[in-house]
Amino acid sequence: MKKNLVVVGYGGMGAWHVNHAQKSDVVNLVGIYDIKEERNEVAREKGIFAYDSFEEVLADEKVDIVTVAIPNDSHKNVVIRALEAGKNVICEKPVAMNLSELDEMIETANRCGKIFSVHQNRRFDIDFLAMKQIKESGEIGQLINIESRVHGSRGIPGDWRGKKEHGGGMLLDWGVHLIDQLLQMMDGKLQKIYCEFDNITNLEVDDGIKLTMMFENGQKALVEVGTYNFIEMPRFYMRATEGTAIIDGWNDKAKVVKCTNMHESNVVPVVTAAGLTKTMAPRTDATTKTYEIEQPKSDVHDYYRNFVKAVDGVEPQLVTHSQMRRVMKVMMAAFESAKLGQTVDFDDNNN
Ligand code: NAD
Repeated sequence: MKKNLVVVGYGGMGAWHVNHAQKSDVVNLVGIYDIKEERNEVAREKGIFAYDSFEEVLADEKVDIVTVAIPNDSHKNVVIRALEAGKNVICEKPVAMNLSELDEMIETANRCGKIFSVHQNRRFDIDFLAMKQIKESGEIGQLINIESRVHGSRGIPGDWRGKKEHGGGMLLDWGVHLIDQLLQMMDGKLQKIYCEFDNITNLEVDDGIKLTMMFENGQKALVEVGTYNFIEMPRFYMRATEGTAIIDGWNDKAKVVKCTNMHESNVVPVVTAAGLTKTMAPRTDATTKTYEIEQPKSDVHDYYRNFVKAVDGVEPQLVTHSQMRRVMKVMMAAFESAKLGQTVDFDDNNN
């Protein structure tokens, strides 16, 4: 049977949840609640039920799940109140402002025996899934390093995302997605973190980040978010022991260049302005094979399908508390590294 859902916060992302819920095979949209009356009016004009208060949502016994899509600094209190009222909760990312807030939320979920998770919808992105597939297939050998980038050119949005007190900044906004994706791909324990921030269009919060995660096994993962990039770099770039894979733009297929013979006998040098070089001469088809991989199938609504199964106790929740804590710990370490201007150690135990 479908579970009854209320979306709290009817802004950009709240509207996304509402649209998805209206088409869902696992949840039934009961209504929304927004702290701003004009947003409730917009919902009502569309024929969506809008509650008069949050207390009314909490008191409504038919509500099984509350999705929280409000600014980041307000997540904790709303999530805790919903859990304590006996609701299961999906919270938008970043789940909290820091680790101690998150721990309070997890403790409440455990105490109340309710399912609580964060909406890591970008685990369903086909570019990420393509890279994960290439890495896991081993077709280009063992991973050396991966780079994941998103680049825009309009600066940080001028709303609450530009304000520190509301949990603004690109680390908490896009960084949280890209970190979560890469932690799903990388093996072994994370050991060190180095992070630099941009403050180009906003001095109060980071409007760009460059974060390197260093793993015990020597692998490295880079997350880069830019909001002042008038030329974008590729979305994904991955080097492995037997080849390289790249995805250029959001909708591009992954291109793979696999090395078929490391040793080339007759390298033709490339002519550069200051002279010839064999080291940097491009490979030919004689020692490499180039191909594209089909885009993986994906359905972002599987997130809700899993959540409902977790509520029914028939499947573990996709985004676990331990994964939520690990991502939050990475972001806390990134803030620390950016503040100190130094690499910081990462304790990957007890996530
Ligand atoms: P938004 O500003 O467009 O909308 C937020 C809405 O919440 C507003 O209508 C506001 O009036 C309402 N609100 C604020 N406090 C409230 C409260 N206490 N109770 C009820 N309503 C309240 O912001 P947004 O872009 O929709 O972002 C909301 C959340 O969703 C953020 O945490 C953001 O990081 C996340 N988000 C996630 C994704 C994703 O892909 N997963 C994308 C965008 C935003």
